[in-house]
Amino acid sequence: MNKKELEKIKQKALEEHIPIIMDDTLEVIEKYLIQMKPKRILEIGTAVGYSAICFTQFLEKDGKIDTIEREKERIQEAKENIKKVGVENKINLYEGDAVEILPTLKEFYDVVFIDAAKGKYPFFLKEALRMIKPNGIIFADNILYKGYVLSDYNKHKQRTAVRNLREYLKEVHENPNLETKILEVGDGLAISKIQ
Ligand code: SAH
Ligand code: MG
Repeated sequence: MNKKELEKIKQKALEEHIPIIMDDTLEVIEKYLIQMKPKRILEIGTAVGYSAICFTQFLEKDGKIDTIEREKERIQEAKENIKKVGVENKINLYEGDAVEILPTLKEFYDVVFIDAAKGKYPFFLKEALRMIKPNGIIFADNILYKGYVLSDYNKHKQRTAVRNLREYLKEVHENPNLETKILEVGDGLAISKIQ
């Protein structure tokens, strides 16, 4: 893994306001990954590949990440970035809308990282639960969405997103097979362990 290239990718993404994973969020997830040594990770929302590239460092030998992105330009850049860092053998990029791609996947994953359209989080959760292995972990980034999710503020123009993020939290908390923690790192991170 070429760390210098990775740092360049991060800086460029930050300059271009691409919403890559924040440092404190990444630190938390890395701690779990170090312990787990996952063989299979599913990421929903690749952007330019930054988080997926970071996660490859913690895969078990021969482990692999599947990641999904729908925006053409980002797909192109992600592919270039993955090559630059030299992790093409560890990342499989699905091109298209996760809402269409997820139901076609037939694999099982140790870790699912949800980091895409907030309005679709309940659907992503349903699909993640279908594919997660026993003792797996589902992470959901941006779950507190600038604090809107836990406030009683309802007039925001993004209220559909807020409603769906709240629905996600309700479902993980009510699901007896999950043990969920919410951390105020980055834009909020939900960590759900499958019992
Ligand atoms: N995980 C990345 C950041 C992802 S940003 C990182 O930390 O480096 C969210 C990305 O999800 C955006 O690039 C957006 O285009 C993509 N996205 C949003 N909704 C999607 C969907 N329904 N299907 C596929 N990609 C989606
Ligand atoms: Mg995010």
